[in-house]
Amino acid sequence: MRSLETEVLVIGGGATGAGIARDLAMRGFRTVVVERDDWASGTTGRYNGLLHSGSRYSVNHLDSARDCIRENRILRRIMPHCIEDTGGYVVATPVDDPAYGDRLMAACRAAGIPIEEVPVSRVLREEPLVNPGIQRALRVPDAPADSFLATLSTIESARQHGARTLNYHAVVELLTSAGRVIGAVCHDRVGNERVTIFADLVINAAGAWAGKVAALVGVHIPLLCSQGTMIATNYRLVNTVITRLRWPAPVDSVLCSHSVSVLGCTDVVINDPDDCAPQPSELRQILAECSQLVPAARSVRHLRAWCGVRPLYRSAPVNGSSGQGLSRAHVILDHAVTDGIEGIISVVGGKWTTHRLMAEQTADAACRKLNTQRPCRTHLEALPGAVGHHHRHGERLAHVETTATQSGLVCECELVERSSLEEAAVSGSVISLDDLRRRTRLGMGSCQGGFCGYRAAGLLHAINRPPSNDARRRVTEFLQGRWKGIAPIARDNQVRQMRLNELLYRQVLALLPGSPDIEKPLQPPATGK
Ligand SMILES: Cc1cc2nc3c(=O)[nH]c(=O)nc-3n(C[C@H](O)[C@H](O)[C@H](O)COP(=O)(O)OP(=O)(O)OC[C@H]3O[C@@H](n4cnc5c(N)ncnc54)[C@H](O)[C@@H]3O)c2cc1C
Repeated sequence: MRSLETEVLVIGGGATGAGIARDLAMRGFRTVVVERDDWASGTTGRYNGLLHSGSRYSVNHLDSARDCIRENRILRRIMPHCIEDTGGYVVATPVDDPAYGDRLMAACRAAGIPIEEVPVSRVLREEPLVNPGIQRALRVPDAPADSFLATLSTIESARQHGARTLNYHAVVELLTSAGRVIGAVCHDRVGNERVTIFADLVINAAGAWAGKVAALVGVHIPLLCSQGTMIATNYRLVNTVITRLRWPAPVDSVLCSHSVSVLGCTDVVINDPDDCAPQPSELRQILAECSQLVPAARSVRHLRAWCGVRPLYRSAPVNGSSGQGLSRAHVILDHAVTDGIEGIISVVGGKWTTHRLMAEQTADAACRKLNTQRPCRTHLEALPGAVGHHHRHGERLAHVETTATQSGLVCECELVERSSLEEAAVSGSVISLDDLRRRTRLGMGSCQGGFCGYRAAGLLHAINRPPSNDARRRVTEFLQGRWKGIAPIARDNQVRQMRLNELLYRQVLALLPGSPDIEKPLQPPATGK
């Protein structure tokens, strides 16, 4: 059993926990951040992919809208490599009331969000797959953002500023003494050992799991978990962010994300964040709503569906099956004040767009708890990997065409080069093929790991030299993870792709003998087609 000692222990390695660890480390605190799985494997890695301008919130949550546009500008500055500067259009489809645009423009101006009316003809020229019947279009600074890259860059920054960053360390116990939390016991899932971490202050940034972490010391956090489901298409239907001009409601956007488009997302209350899966009714809802924006959304090849879980803080009881009425604003809870337990604070709710701000406010709260004043600097310093410009779609292709050979490509769909996989694999924090996926986009394209999975497994095996059974298990887990997302939405060519992948792995490579998940029959197409 290992033992560590630190000033602040941060639980959770999503956008919020990573941001808090970076902020604290930059303020000079000795900091440890632990994540039970891989960085960004929770909601952060399963979100819609939108850097909000705040326009969506301007009409009903003005403060949230103001936070969004302020953070939108800061994130563009400190992590330009994670953001594609496409801008977005808010459009009135034939069934929306175009007059709502006047209200939205007034609210955006009140929040300080740049918004301009643009001719419908211009939108249709730039975005030829958008519904030709749109009645009105407004331009706002929405943008697609890569939360995997952002979180990994944030963790790297925290590390460079002296934080200890431990993924695959799950908190299983909170240590208390005289009514105060004094640390935590983690299960190191790779070394399979218990690690005790003593800390002056524990910060619970476990997102939708914050309630479970707080429950370890008998504290109840009133959280409502809301599942949001999204669908990825096999190419970019749009090159910007297209959202509905209407009162905020679930399923109102189609946006580009690297080589694909994301359709989403729903809002369905669930009981347990560990028990979420895309439901057929959600998939039908997404296709119906998104095809109002982009008619081809229904007929295009759908790569996969996935869902993430929002933890919504409820200060009052909520009725109904959706969390739509609840604010997406974040809450910082000092459990000494709310529950009489010293030494622990929790941060819940919020948006990816405002994660840096949440981290700043949480670190300010930590300073107060530790009786010190140290200013935040996270808005001043760019993250590692930031280049002088925003991410540009096509950069990878240009790089491959000028520097790499065909044999250097391991994943053709996403143009992942052998060298970038090797670089990720030797970093020390990569355990599974899914970890490689989060770092490189391996297996995120049309074949969903069919052609690159076994190559990457071989590469990882050559570098890390795990027992061969482990290597087999990793390929199986990776493919099952991918297929879990394909099965609910598969039809036409994606069904053929699944079958081809299955034959490759089962018949040719004999890698998946008797795998029960793969032997399950395909589910019928969710669209009813
Ligand atoms: C469907 C959906 C779509 C969204 N779309 C957008 C969007 O487009 N734009 C936007 O700005 N925001 C969006 N959001 C909100 C945004 O994704 C979240 O606010 C943000 O990602 C939350 O980050 P987090 O770090 O708080 O939580 P998480 O990313 O969930 O991180 C919490 C981490 O804690 C870890 N953990 C849990 N228990 C333990 C334990 N015992 N020990 C150690 N670690 C533990 C988990 O594994 C997890 O990685 C969306 C949310 C959802 C659900």
